[in-house]
Amino acid sequence: MASFTLQGIPISRGIAIGRAHLLHPASMDVKHYLVAQEKVEAEVQRLRNAIAAVQKDLQMIWAELPLDAPTELGAFLDVHALILSDPMICEEPLDIIRSRHYNAEWALVTQIDVLSAQFDEIEDEYLRARKSDIEQVAERVLKVLTGTAFDLPRTTGVDESNANMIVVARDISPADMMQFRNVAFTGFVTDEGGQNSHTAIVSRSLGLPAVVGMGNASQLIVQDDWLIIDSDAGVVIVAPPEQVIGQYRERQAALLKARKKLNRLKKTQAVTLDGVEIRLLANIEFPQDAVVALEAGASGVGLFRSEFLFMGRTGHEQKLPTEDEQFIAYRDAVFAMKGRPVTIRTLDVGADKPLDNGDHSILNPALGLRAIRYCLKEPQIFLTQLRAILRASAFGPVHILLPMIAHAFEIDQSLAMIAQAKSELSAEKVEFDSEIMVGAMIEVPAAALSLPMFVKKLDFLSVGTNDLIQYTLAIDRTDHEVAHLYSDTHPAILHLLQLTISAAEKAGIPVSICGGMAGDVRLTRLLIGMGFRALSMPAALLLEVKQEILNTRMDSLQPYVRKILRSYDPVTIQEGLQQLATAGAAT
Ligand code: PEP
Ligand code: MG
Repeated sequence: MASFTLQGIPISRGIAIGRAHLLHPASMDVKHYLVAQEKVEAEVQRLRNAIAAVQKDLQMIWAELPLDAPTELGAFLDVHALILSDPMICEEPLDIIRSRHYNAEWALVTQIDVLSAQFDEIEDEYLRARKSDIEQVAERVLKVLTGTAFDLPRTTGVDESNANMIVVARDISPADMMQFRNVAFTGFVTDEGGQNSHTAIVSRSLGLPAVVGMGNASQLIVQDDWLIIDSDAGVVIVAPPEQVIGQYRERQAALLKARKKLNRLKKTQAVTLDGVEIRLLANIEFPQDAVVALEAGASGVGLFRSEFLFMGRTGHEQKLPTEDEQFIAYRDAVFAMKGRPVTIRTLDVGADKPLDNGDHSILNPALGLRAIRYCLKEPQIFLTQLRAILRASAFGPVHILLPMIAHAFEIDQSLAMIAQAKSELSAEKVEFDSEIMVGAMIEVPAAALSLPMFVKKLDFLSVGTNDLIQYTLAIDRTDHEVAHLYSDTHPAILHLLQLTISAAEKAGIPVSICGGMAGDVRLTRLLIGMGFRALSMPAALLLEVKQEILNTRMDSLQPYVRKILRSYDPVTIQEGLQQLATAGAAT
């Protein structure tokens, strides 16, 4: 097979070499054709075989369930097995093939449509919701029929046989991405997505080479193709010749060696050559990430994206995590950080992080009912979370971070909710930190342009550059068609950053950056030169940024930082960045 190269958007660093593992989207959109009379029985058998294969598959998943798997998972598999053995699913479609000569996929979908319509009529909400179980079972059978049943290997933990697999998909939702945390893959390639889509963020936190926004890679790449991901260049080489694989293996080994060398910096303080200390914090999605963060030398958690506890809960009895479940997760993160602060961001669902119930704006999700807007509309969900966070604050330093604030009343209402949660807990004699710090994300341009409103009412600020860029430049961060317009050094962005740091300095309140810019080593000197003293990033990027800080002389940055901030010309800005790259270094 001839080798070819595809270009996409780099979202992490490093090189991966492995075989393609294609994930096909489940789809009810099937081929429709009539089967000749003499082939009908063969078609019936084809469907029977597919159903039997799925039955066997479900039994295997059952048998391999880890001992500590949630009980709901077993129940969920039982329900699917039961549905599959119901004559309405395993017999009726066979009759449709025999009587109408439909192909197997068409017959199955026809029967599912009939059943779905019947389910829609059911009054009982719980039973009505079982329709999705039937659809999921049907999708599994369809995947076998269409030969696209490349499910994730079920093994958890590191498995050598999967260790050189590269996942290729049209798109992976952030919720689906989470299941890759337990399965060993060496990289990801997706057709869709942008540099700071939440899928990209999760894969970056896994520390794996990945390229997104590839257009139609999942159609061009075939299962088991050899692939090389060069994520620094945003390139995927399909079916590379032996010699090219050899060259990349050498580069990979060199990178690995460099990374090992960086490990020596884990315990070193992040201080510039002229003695300015920078706090390097970690972004986490799950409490167990805090262990990795501490291990990487983070001086705290600057952003705990709590919404990941709320997503991907199919199969859970509770659609949302209970107060106790949340409390345990937050407290675990606090314990893991051993006295270092943990900044927990309140629920930021919506946009590309929908809850399973899909109860969000669908017209323009990034501009819709997201983050604080959702929480204020669902005060019970918000209050439950605030109580859980406050309870965790009794076990170590915790800060509350409010996402997507744009209006003064959103701050006021949030603070009132926090006060309510506190007074409830006090009445119940439950311990919490009564002085807990509350801050807001600066991620909507309106916030960066009305900072006095924020600094008066809050204890700290954290700049979410991913959304600040999305909303300032009016580009959907998940849309690969506009990914080329995503620019973190656009003068508008730099000015908003400058406004934020100046306002925070004037008010004397701490400010950090927790968006993607904080972990981009090419921007480290610019950001610290502007005055930022706390940067929060995925743990995997922390040492590289630290090395840059250790090699920087702060007092040599100023002329170039000023030149960049004064300019509206992209060429001058890039020139300034190049100068910073050399001028700030050790002499
Ligand atoms: C941001 O917007 O920069 C941010 C850190 O939050 P998230 O990426 O989760 O939207
Ligand atoms: Mg954000």
